[in-house]
Amino acid sequence: MSRYRLSPTPAQEAALAEHCAHARFVWNLAVEQHAHWKPGRKSAPGFAEQCRQLTEARAAFGWLAAGSIVVQQQALKDFAQAMANFFGGTHRKPTWRRRGRSEGFRIVAVKADQVRRLSRNTGEVKIPKVGWVRFRWSRAVPGGVKSYRITRDAAGRWHVAFAAVPKPVPAPATGEAVGVDRGVAASAALSTGQLLTAPGLREPEARRLLRLQRRLARARRGSHRRAKVKAAIARLKARQSDRRKDWVEKTSTELARRFDVIAVEDLKIRNMTRSAKGTVEQPGTNVRQKAGLNRAILAAGWGRLVTRLEDKAPGRVVKINPAYTSQTCNACGHRAPDNRESQAVFRCVACGHRADADVNAACNLRDTAVGRTVAARGGSPSGGPVNREPQRDLLLVG
Ligand SMILES: [Zn+2]
Repeated sequence: MSRYRLSPTPAQEAALAEHCAHARFVWNLAVEQHAHWKPGRKSAPGFAEQCRQLTEARAAFGWLAAGSIVVQQQALKDFAQAMANFFGGTHRKPTWRRRGRSEGFRIVAVKADQVRRLSRNTGEVKIPKVGWVRFRWSRAVPGGVKSYRITRDAAGRWHVAFAAVPKPVPAPATGEAVGVDRGVAASAALSTGQLLTAPGLREPEARRLLRLQRRLARARRGSHRRAKVKAAIARLKARQSDRRKDWVEKTSTELARRFDVIAVEDLKIRNMTRSAKGTVEQPGTNVRQKAGLNRAILAAGWGRLVTRLEDKAPGRVVKINPAYTSQTCNACGHRAPDNRESQAVFRCVACGHRADADVNAACNLRDTAVGRTVAARGGSPSGGPVNREPQRDLLLVG
């Protein structure tokens, strides 16, 4: 996704807001249907059924029919994706969308001539029922745009984000594999021993955010001052999220370029490993300060990183069942829940191997991907030492 600042005219802004209202209406309808659903009842309507209902709703409500069907259908599709993410365990359950907060809509089936450049700094995009809307051409628009999303942030700024599947990055053809594990203390750990940290806010920015949040708590509801403080908070948060997105792009490209095989844990079964790693609520003592930042990374960044890796290294990403990867010694294969010196440090009770806990897990992911370890197979504890090359990179950390 690359995001550009949109500069609609006042009339266009009204039309965009109308699209947002329709998308919100349809989304909230879907939320409501799912809220009524309880275990044991007939399943809540899926995407296809909801589309049929949308057709009926459009026939009944003139104002809905006057809007764009693409906008409304995509809202349903987004909702279906949000539910899938929720069941996948990567996201929270989708909730009501409220007016004025993270509003937006998506347009799909975009044709090549619907995005064009006008001058060095200006481009325009053709939006259904709105017309050509200008945007700041702040960087190259990716080729082959298939869809885009229009959003209005809490500060009232409009953006367009073009989605194009990034071109695959050529594999280095060295046969080298890497394991990437979600970190507890860092954002991600590589089996090479490298620890990666997604950028957040800088120290002065974090202090400013805290100050603004305190000010917000004191500001009177509905006051002009409150709106201003809210907008300032939204800008800081947007900056933070931009930096993380940027980090995901760079990190995924680098991994795809450096390694032939990239092993990550399978998110669908990640809850199984949660207790082994310690939960976010009960982290080890020395990771508590970073838990807040990490929670956000875990929620959004990690899923995005894996998606991007699959885009850029198609067929080279291996998803591994993460069970036991954090309990198994990468040096001797011994598996025990007490193979931990602390949350951050792995120490094998059998062979004494000591390493960064996340790096040890990343090594297990890598070795499972290339099929040369007992890790994660949940096999017999008697599985003795296996023949393996020296884990030089592991000895350098911890
Ligand atoms: Zn060991």
